[in-house]
Amino acid sequence: MSNIIEEIRYFSCGYCTNEMSRIFKGVPKKKLNFYAGVFLIKHRKYGYVLYDTGYNIRLLKNTIKYMIYKKLNPVTLKREDMIDNHLKKAGIKAEEIKRIILSHLHPDHIGGIEYFSDIEIIITEECFREYDKSSFKSLIFKEFLPKDFEKRLKIINSENRNKNIYGIESYDLFNDGSFLLISINGHSKGQCCAFFPEKNLFIASDVCWGMELLLLTEKMKFLPKMVQDNFSEYKKGVETLKKLAEKGVKIIVSHDPPERIRGVLDE
Ligand SMILES: [Zn+2]
Repeated sequence: MSNIIEEIRYFSCGYCTNEMSRIFKGVPKKKLNFYAGVFLIKHRKYGYVLYDTGYNIRLLKNTIKYMIYKKLNPVTLKREDMIDNHLKKAGIKAEEIKRIILSHLHPDHIGGIEYFSDIEIIITEECFREYDKSSFKSLIFKEFLPKDFEKRLKIINSENRNKNIYGIESYDLFNDGSFLLISINGHSKGQCCAFFPEKNLFIASDVCWGMELLLLTEKMKFLPKMVQDNFSEYKKGVETLKKLAEKGVKIIVSHDPPERIRGVLDE
């Protein structure tokens, strides 16, 4: 197996800004930007797969729901930051994208999906159940999803995750061992992460909000803990990432600083 995954590109589609001392206990005051990361993966045979879609400019409207979101999570976004524009600049047509994986359905991951019609949308079974239940805590802003969302879904069921990778069950997307999907709970239910064995690279969505913040997990304050779907599961996810890192796997999370992500992808 070599070069089945031809390339992985990264785009940042807007960001939110948070004060570190409001997220973690005992850290100095410092504002951090959390970029909404989107990844474009090119498979030699199956073409482009988009992993998440970033923010949508409509989130800047001042409806009550969006104002609450932005109060907790101030968003900076320009129209040109949206994924359709990044792809245009890169010379890639929306029609060239063959599938979209949504790691989970929070607004900073689903915002640009409206620019890709008809194609398959991949989510995990656990994520679908959460969507179906639609509680406020799940923070799924359904208005950003296309009308035919359910029809276009390819749901990764747990019984199909039969590829073992470092002791973790994963789903082999193209049945060639090049693109594995792994579900990790905690931040949200059934968060879909991706592992590329050829590149020894793990894209971990929001398992944590930055690899440099991994060791601060135990210091997380009450409110940001409450934003997670389940904090004890969240800690398990963090342990999984630590274990993978110990085994030499390169890990990036969606909200890592762009410089870090580009550095890891260029290695
Ligand atoms: Zn999230």
